[in-house]
Amino acid sequence: MSLITLEDISKTHARIAPVAVSHVSFTLGEREILALLGPSGSGKTTTLRMIAGFDRPDSGRILLHGAPLSGDGMWIEPEQRRIGMVFQDYALFPHLTLLENVMFGLRGQSRKDREDTARRVLAAVGMEEMAARYPHEISGGQQQRVALARALAPNPLVLLLDEPFSNLDSDMRAEMREELLRILRESDTSAIIVTHDQEEAFTLADRIGILNRGVLEQISEPEVLYRQPRTRFVAEFVGRSDFIPGVVCDGIETELGKFPNDPGLPADTRVDVLVRPDEVDLEPAEDGLGVVARRRFRGAENLYLVTLPSGAHVRSSQPSTYVLPAGTRVRVTVRHADVIAFPCAAASS
Ligand code: ADP
Ligand code: MG
Repeated sequence: MSLITLEDISKTHARIAPVAVSHVSFTLGEREILALLGPSGSGKTTTLRMIAGFDRPDSGRILLHGAPLSGDGMWIEPEQRRIGMVFQDYALFPHLTLLENVMFGLRGQSRKDREDTARRVLAAVGMEEMAARYPHEISGGQQQRVALARALAPNPLVLLLDEPFSNLDSDMRAEMREELLRILRESDTSAIIVTHDQEEAFTLADRIGILNRGVLEQISEPEVLYRQPRTRFVAEFVGRSDFIPGVVCDGIETELGKFPNDPGLPADTRVDVLVRPDEVDLEPAEDGLGVVARRRFRGAENLYLVTLPSGAHVRSSQPSTYVLPAGTRVRVTVRHADVIAFPCAAASS
């Protein structure tokens, strides 16, 4: 049985506000790490807050181990849910020591037991020696660890993290990601992590859900999301994407050749075919269709922009040692793992 289930959850914050979350359904498995990824305002925080019990859905049900937390006339208070939440701004109490901050969420135990638990989780995040300090006496990364410890102290079934690393510099962020993975695995805790950072979602998550204007457009393993995006939004939001025009006949005809009509689109449909830079090969050729418009050196790769006869552009990721000057005529080959094509908006109306 899944740990958390959202069934057709919708929420609008105010009568005139746009819908924040619209008919969202998904499950979280035991020991699963799920990332919710989407642009600002897409409903990520609202989704987490409803799971935690800080916001009430307008409709739909949220279940924990199959039992409703909200919906069907049920409402379980946040502190009864066994769900921990780490907020974007950490929300540590400035007037309490780190130890007291972590002890704060523990109830129904003796002071001694609460202190033992708090010291144990502070040790788990590597902050035991600073237990007597106040939040302003430690760095942002350390505050993040304490916020994590505070959320873990009551031994939650699920940890919800709202852009937990957004205030950290990139080195620290990479380090904290590894730490978080270790802590979640060691404590057998499932997690939903909200982020707008793709790389973070890809490195941390077993599955990723993509939110766009409150709609969950796709929820899949990272590779499926990248290789088989179900919507144009997902294709564009996840990874680097270019589109070339095509038309369905027996296969999908494009200026870069004919691709199998894997999507099974009806004949004569005008489509945009998704092309990723890591699928595009370039080779200098007098009779090549493409012309190198630009090369961007990015350290580990050269990212080429190539103009095609239709005026469409594709990018090609090449080794940093493979240098072609702008203006070079090139043969362009696409190695498609899966052919993803979206009907053109104009053609379908
Ligand atoms: P995200 O976390 O993906 O940036 P949010 O869940 O915070 O998105 O917001 C989703 C939508 O709901 C946005 O349009 C936002 O302006 C709106 N919203 C969020 N919180 C409130 C609130 N307390 N009152 C009114 N509107 C809100
Ligand atoms: Mg948010």
